[in-house]
Formats: sequence, structure tokens, C-alpha cells
Amino acid sequence: MSAIEFASPREPVVAGCLPAPVASGPLPRHRTVGVRVGDVMVGGGAPVVVQSMTNTDTADIDGTVAQVAALARAGSELVRITVDRDEAAAAVPYIKEKLLARGVTAPLVGDFHYIGHKLLADHPACAEALDKYRINPGNVGFKDKKDRQFGAIVELAARHGKAVRIGANWGSLDQELLTHLMDLNAASAAPLDARAVTREAMVQSALLSAARAEEMGLGRDRIILSAKVSAVQELIAVYRMLAQRSDYAIHLGLTEAGMGSKGIVASSAAMGILLQEGIGDTIRVSLTPEPNGDRTVEVKVAQEILQTMGFRTFVPLVAACPGCGRTTSTVFQELARDIQSWISTSMPEWKATYPGVENLNVAVMGCIVNGPGESKHADIGISLPGTGEVPTAPVFIDGKKAATLRGPAIAADFKGMVADYIEKRYGLGAKTAAE
Ligand code: SF4
Repeated sequence: MSAIEFASPREPVVAGCLPAPVASGPLPRHRTVGVRVGDVMVGGGAPVVVQSMTNTDTADIDGTVAQVAALARAGSELVRITVDRDEAAAAVPYIKEKLLARGVTAPLVGDFHYIGHKLLADHPACAEALDKYRINPGNVGFKDKKDRQFGAIVELAARHGKAVRIGANWGSLDQELLTHLMDLNAASAAPLDARAVTREAMVQSALLSAARAEEMGLGRDRIILSAKVSAVQELIAVYRMLAQRSDYAIHLGLTEAGMGSKGIVASSAAMGILLQEGIGDTIRVSLTPEPNGDRTVEVKVAQEILQTMGFRTFVPLVAACPGCGRTTSTVFQELARDIQSWISTSMPEWKATYPGVENLNVAVMGCIVNGPGESKHADIGISLPGTGEVPTAPVFIDGKKAATLRGPAIAADFKGMVADYIEKRYGLGAKTAAE
């Protein structure tokens, strides 16, 4: 039986001026064994988990605590930190303690390269404080040390009851394995091109290491695999192979995605295709931030990928048309921007006060061409007057025209209507009435 199983036929693509808000019905998922990381389930049919990574020096306890807390507040459900030397390993238990004191419970993942076996053995409090260890089979050790050092980490993970991510990476691929496969390929009757052999080496590196970890006593329910590449088509090919050949939980991510829109587009393109095929149990968007930039952007992008594809909901969606020559005033752009930022800043409070508010869909449209139609599809939508149109703005609630706004306070009036809608639909009164 194929490792890819579709729980139901694919949802049809909804055509229109705006993206479909949330697909209804079950979406196809590649079946994997669930792995518990702290109190977060990865794989096994659980919702796709958003994770991120700090870029602070882990030895800087306060700086790392602040960034982990910011990432967790932004919605990162797992946070990875670098553990590269004794000072960093020694800091980990204090970081965990301080986070818990601040009410931040996001599980911590330790990122180990080269000397992870030694750091985990020398710092048992670090091994205990972390919820998952990430190791790279390409640099866990070399030649005769490789198996021994890999085994030491696996043993420690089993002893402490922790999960392990075995993360192969194109840039630090197991060279012995790659050379072996290249030699075999060269001797074959129909040799493949070098890229195909490298893809095979990536997949084998992850799978052979996982099999070895299982032989050493680490349960399949403690193993997550990744095989990261920086080129979109290669990434898609490698993850398809990984999913076809195993049922380990999968961490999905494009490595070295890059800065700004380039990184966002490349990650969305690669992960979007794989997620649509049901591949990926947890995702990380590896964006390079601007110097001193906001690290939490990668969390927002990961959430938006999942939400726009209909896998999860995190924040209310504001659908806005792109605007065109029919919207020559700035009212439309300003209202779309104001509503979006008002929702973002209100969400921490709304989450507590209005359970389910993340499912809200708001539409802000620029003119009569698509405005009324698209506004009707949203929970609450406004169609602003385009250039030369009568200066009125119909508001639609649950598909029906509810009001027509006029005058200079259209934006404020619409905001008030959205607030009323949220109160009525998600507030205490709504719950009481439903009971
Ligand atoms: S202003 Fe009107 S025509 Fe232009 S993109 Fe928006 S809805 Fe479409």
C-alpha cells in the first residue's frame, strides 16, 4: 500500500477575485506515527504544528528567554534554540525555568551539531530541560566516531524520554553515504544524474539513521525526520520520496529560504505543494531577518501558509481586493490596513474573550465590480465606493446587506460594526444563548 493515503477526494478550487477562505471537509494527509514533544503532538493526524528558531546566543539567558517568549506569543508552538557549546548547554535549564515563570510553556528543541553527544552527557539538566533534540546525521561525527556519537545521543534521548529530529541537510550531507551511492551509480548500467543521486542520499541518510535509532531502542513515536534543501523543486522531490518510503512524522522546511519576499515566496511555493499532498506534520519557515529585524515574522508566515490553505485557523482573515484604477482614493487601502492591524493588536485579548474568533472572515473591497459579491461571502464585508461611484458603502453581514454607510466616518462605523459582530457571535452572550 502506498504511504500516501487520501482520506477524501480533494476539495475543488474555488474560483473568484479572492482566495477561498477556509476549505471545508477533511483534507488529505500522509499518515505518520504521532510524536509527543512536550505537550505538543506532531504527526499522527494532529494539526500541522508551527515552529521557529531563535537567533540569540543561547548563553545569553535573558536575550534567549525574551526571544523564545516573543516567538511563542506570536504563535510558535515549538521553539528551537542553538546548543553549540558548554555555556549554551549550561544556560538551557535556566532559560526553561525563566520561561515557565513567565507562563511560556512552548516546548524547547535543542539544535546540536558535532558535539551534541558530549554536551548532552556533560549537562544532564540541559538534556532534561529540552523536549526534543535535533541532530544532523551529516555532522554527528565522522568515520568510526559517527555511529558511537549518534548512538550516545539516541541513548540519552531514550533515557530522558525525549523526541529526536533526524534532520538531513543538503549543505551538510553525510559524505560517506553520498560517495558510496555515487560509486554505485557510476557502476550501474543506467546511471542517474548527480542531483538524483544526491536526493537519494538525503533520503537514505534520514531513513538509515532513523532505522539505527530504532534498533537502539528509540521508539518510532519519538522520531521526526526532515530532509532540507534550499531549492524548491529539489525539496518537493526529496520530501515526496521521504513520505513514500516511511511513516515517520515529518518536519517540513526549505532551508536557507532567504530574505523578505524571496524567502516567503520560495517557502510558500515549496511547502504549499507538499502540504496539499498531505506531507508535513510540522513546519518552519527559515527566513533571514533584516539586521535587528523581527524574528516573529517567520511564525506569522508559517501561520498564514497553513491558514490560507485551509489547514488551520489562527487569526481572522481580512480579504481585500488588490485595488486598481477604480480606487483612486486612499480610503480603501487605509481601511484594509487599519482593520488588519486592529485585528492583529486585538487578537491576544480576543483569544481569551471571544473563543473561535480566529475563524472570522472580513472583506474590505474597493468598488462595486466585485465588492458586494465578495462581501457576501465573508462573515462581514464592506464594499467601498470606487472612483465616480455614489459615495456610499454597503455592509454585508452573513451574506445579507445590513447597512449602508455614508460620510467621513465610514471606516470608524465599519470597525464598530465588526466589533459588534464579534461580540454577538463569539461573546459570552452568544455562548449563553447557544446553551
Ligand atoms: S477596485 Fe473593484 S475592480 Fe478593482 S480590484 Fe477592487 S473590486 Fe476589483
